[in-house]
Amino acid sequence: MFLTGKTALVTGSTSGIGLAYAKALAAEGANVVINGFGDAAAIEAERAGLEQASGAGARYSGHDLTKVDQIEAMMAEAADAFGGVDILINNAGVQHVAPVEAFPLDKWDLIIALNLTAAFHTTRLALPHMKERRWGRIIQTASAHSLVASPFKSAYVTAKHGLAGFTKTVALEAATFGITANCISPGYVWTPLVENQIPDTMKARGMTREQVINDVLLAGQPTKEFVTAEQVAAIALFLCGDAAAQITGANLSVDGGWTAG
Ligand code: NAD
Repeated sequence: MFLTGKTALVTGSTSGIGLAYAKALAAEGANVVINGFGDAAAIEAERAGLEQASGAGARYSGHDLTKVDQIEAMMAEAADAFGGVDILINNAGVQHVAPVEAFPLDKWDLIIALNLTAAFHTTRLALPHMKERRWGRIIQTASAHSLVASPFKSAYVTAKHGLAGFTKTVALEAATFGITANCISPGYVWTPLVENQIPDTMKARGMTREQVINDVLLAGQPTKEFVTAEQVAAIALFLCGDAAAQITGANLSVDGGWTAG
């Protein structure tokens, strides 16, 4: 259990990739703060399971990360409970699929706020503690869309490219403090986020569900397989270890070869 005594906060961890990160970190003994929305009883069951797995603490924060005061409250609560955040994983994200000229303004604002600006706020609030401890890990779930674009995903591609640039800047600023900052960039991972965009993509492209899965989602993924959330979480765990102490400012693709083409 190499993370005993460390505290990890994973945004958007009530489901999908975020929950896989939380489970991987708890299995290595970290205190974990999970965040996101969902059914209260299901979240409590996950929280209790994390505590049991780690033998350490697990807390749930239901704060809405599109709002700066709620991000500040979440970070303050984590500091009160565990003394500060040593491992920050910015993972909360949403998607919306529409042509640029028809892109709903509220969806643009939501995606930029959650997928990009929230990571700035959590990072600025986590850094003082990490610098004081002279150890920290900042990990962003970016995306293949932090490296390449796809049509109809303008806000998401913009936010993820921004996140990649932000992460490189943090890596440079924090480099002499034992803190690393990296992006993990998955291709398509089968989670509710992917499932939920199928109907809109069917509409935008005039396709059936099977066509969207095979001709859009897996079209650019040379392995023709979805990535698993556990495979993404394993990379995060590796980044937390001493072997990864010199990996900073990197953008690690886990995309079945998508961005190699
Ligand atoms: P998901 O929908 O399963 O999980 C998203 C999480 O974010 C949930 O816990 C949800 O409750 C939370 N969330 C949503 N709005 C929030 C808000 N306002 N405040 C706080 N939490 C909020 O999605 P996922 O596929 O696990 O995605 C996680 C991350 O991975 C996202 O940043 C996404 O862009 C990225 N990603 C996903 C894929 C994929 O194929 N699934 C690929 C590349 C990158």
